[in-house]
Amino acid sequence: MQQVIKEIIVATKNTGKVAEFKVALGTLPYKVTSLADLGNFPEAPENGETFAENACAKAEFYARLTGKLCLADDSGLEVDYLKGEPGVYSARYAGEHAGDQDNNKKLIDNLIGVPPEKRSGRFRCVLALADAEKILLTAEGFVEGVILDAPRGEQGFGYDPLFLMPAIDRTLAEMSHEEKNAISHRGQAIRALVKQLAALEK
Ligand code: IMP
Repeated sequence: MQQVIKEIIVATKNTGKVAEFKVALGTLPYKVTSLADLGNFPEAPENGETFAENACAKAEFYARLTGKLCLADDSGLEVDYLKGEPGVYSARYAGEHAGDQDNNKKLIDNLIGVPPEKRSGRFRCVLALADAEKILLTAEGFVEGVILDAPRGEQGFGYDPLFLMPAIDRTLAEMSHEEKNAISHRGQAIRALVKQLAALEK
């Protein structure tokens, strides 16, 4: 019997993320398309208090608009000394139009004088898959590390140069894309989602 190929819309215009999802879902009978392939869509609301709320709201918003299966993610950095900040505000920590450098500077400034043992934090990522009626699946991943007081490394994006993995004494910005993906919050969340999807297909 011929397998039915279902379509999943990845609710992001970030081509890097779309490529990651295409590879990860490659073993399953899904055609992966991005929002950018479908035309111009309004921005989804992103005013939840948790990554899960934001991921679910985005997935539902685009699933209703497109009438198709939609996969959305939300991620960010939680720093323990800062009581979980920047959290869901990671992308706009230093202001609505802040870039990575502004956000990293604010993080460094807010941790001035804080000793290494109190600089723990984690990246967290939540994925949500929805159809036009409801959330079908969610999956989560996280990676623990320590926040440096100065950037190290040229790879990656966002807070990567400040995020040290003490066990190997490298920041996420000192890793190749493949190395980061093997341990990162997003890599783990994607693998958890793929496992659940594969189970649904059985
Ligand atoms: P988004 O969920 O892709 O919108 O990410 C929100 C923000 O969290 C980004 O703008 C980054 O500041 C931060 N962030 C999320 N994932 C990563 C990562 O893998 N490395 C560095 N920063 C990240």
